[in-house]
Amino acid sequence: MTFVIHKKMISTNIEHAIHLLKSNNVIGLPTETVYGLAGNAYSETAIKKIYEIKKRPSFNPLIVHIKSYNDINTVAVDIPEKAHLLAKAFWPGPLTLLLKKQPTISGLVTSDLDTVAVRVPNHPVALDVLDKLDFPLVAPSANPFTRISPTKPEHVASYFKNEIELVLDGGTCSSGVESTIVGFEANKVIVYRFGALSLEAIEKVVGPISIINKSKESPKAPGMLLKHYSPKTEFILTRNIQSELEWYKGKKIGLLLFSKSYPDFEPHLQQVLSKGESLDEAASNLYQALHELDKQNLDIIIAERFPEYGLGITINDRLERASKK
Ligand code: AMP
Ligand code: MG
Repeated sequence: MTFVIHKKMISTNIEHAIHLLKSNNVIGLPTETVYGLAGNAYSETAIKKIYEIKKRPSFNPLIVHIKSYNDINTVAVDIPEKAHLLAKAFWPGPLTLLLKKQPTISGLVTSDLDTVAVRVPNHPVALDVLDKLDFPLVAPSANPFTRISPTKPEHVASYFKNEIELVLDGGTCSSGVESTIVGFEANKVIVYRFGALSLEAIEKVVGPISIINKSKESPKAPGMLLKHYSPKTEFILTRNIQSELEWYKGKKIGLLLFSKSYPDFEPHLQQVLSKGESLDEAASNLYQALHELDKQNLDIIIAERFPEYGLGITINDRLERASKK
């Protein structure tokens, strides 16, 4: 029964999506990072619906999605040169810039900060929708607060079957993790959230960058909330799978692994993220694998720590937050 409802919700009907967005409704929208819960960035009604549906605390601001770099001045002012360089290099793409906001951007979007988070998504469906609208979209990840982010339309439909009418079908998200977020202070580029764009790629364009000090964590960087992206199942992250297997012997265990499967372990109980040892591929499979393991009523999920470079940094960040109680 619920399956039928889900299938009806998921559709490729762009005109329906446009109609809903123009009338202050919220829809599931595919992007290359994860699916978003999208609404008119200038509509108080739509913004409030998003916070309510996600059960998102009001101190956690939203990302504004624009259709092209040419629109950057409609949402931001006093844009630093390095922001222009990064936007030109990576938009459309999984990089969010924190910029001084235009007065037209509501404090409801930015949690009353004077900065706005903005990016151009790199997904044909999202770009098509934005192109047909004369307003930008706010689109936080389409998961209830703290839960695993959605990378397939079915994930969104099952989270929000009672709250939204439509999830636009754009297939599986190609990046599969959220955008990297950077801000600017006195000519320095500061990373606020690790994401689908590697730090190495950013440094190639703007030189050395800093990472926000986690101990100074404040509502300024709520993407850094410690517990986040969590399965319901107990979850641990380790460098030594074997010793954890011995410790949890007798329990119903699921494994999340980089490239090698475990012999003598049932295939459906282990998710290998990239047989070819590609960190990009592993990142794109991460949330789907967590959804799969979380469905199986396991006692515990044991995840392997990934190499600390490229998107391995992003994957470890998400696994650490998933393991927080
Ligand atoms: P989500 O779209 O669910 O990935 O969440 C968007 C994230 O963007 C939030 O969790 C914040 O960390 C971040 N964000 C949005 N606006 C700002 C801002 N003005 N300053 C700092 N972080 C922001
Ligand atoms: Mg999110």
